[in-house]
Amino acid sequence: MIIDTHCHLIDKAFSTDVDEVVLRAGQANVQKMILACCDETEFLPIAALCSKYPDRLFPTIGIHPENMAQDVRQQFEQLQALKNGHPEVPVCAIGEIGLDLYWDRTRLSDQLWVLEQQVIWAVEEDLPVLLHIRNAMDEFLVLLEQKLYPVAKAAGKEIRGILHCYSGTAEQAARAMQFGHFLLGIGGTLTYKKSQVPDVVRAVGLSRIVLETDAPYLAPVPYRGRRNEPAYTSVTCQAVAELLSVPVPEVEQATSGNASALFGFRPNNAQ
Ligand SMILES: [Zn+2]
Repeated sequence: MIIDTHCHLIDKAFSTDVDEVVLRAGQANVQKMILACCDETEFLPIAALCSKYPDRLFPTIGIHPENMAQDVRQQFEQLQALKNGHPEVPVCAIGEIGLDLYWDRTRLSDQLWVLEQQVIWAVEEDLPVLLHIRNAMDEFLVLLEQKLYPVAKAAGKEIRGILHCYSGTAEQAARAMQFGHFLLGIGGTLTYKKSQVPDVVRAVGLSRIVLETDAPYLAPVPYRGRRNEPAYTSVTCQAVAELLSVPVPEVEQATSGNASALFGFRPNNAQ
């Protein structure tokens, strides 16, 4: 079994054929998919889709740094009320949350504030986090070491989660891992020319990675530039196996085991 730990199946790119997309994933041995939520408007649509495939699709809840409202404090309250108002939704993580300094830094303080709130919320709820850190790994590490880690430690808990679409260095990954149980989300960018992800995967090894697509974005070669979909997690799985010179089933087992432990799935529970 392969697990796609990060996809956006309610994106409009899938509006006409999402059921076929889920079917094709199964045919490619991708049996479970985590549906990343980027803001309060996405939560109920994600929950509705997941309820159609309760053993295969799993919902999350969170505010992505690029989806912040003008009043992010009110937005965060709204998000918490939404989760509390729907205890029937089996939320498996807080995400997609994080820092994104690719386009501009003007709202960095809001980004830091809402990320901090959401990680503390995850710790309180005993949930993992799906982290989107883009051009901001150093800022994230400072927040992690100086604020998030001390808060979790004082509560006797550990921050755990996935650094999705990991684009930092192996050294930065090692530093993050000192302050929480972090796995690196490896997707299509592994297969891109000039990618530094292969070096990172070689350095951290199978014990600390999970597979993902970020569908509909970032399709792996040979689908690069086209719509990505969860079935292509198997392409990245193959690429990891070739990179590390190990059999494909070994990559499947290790990465699905890592993801299952993080999200509380029973291992190798195909259906
Ligand atoms: Zn995403």
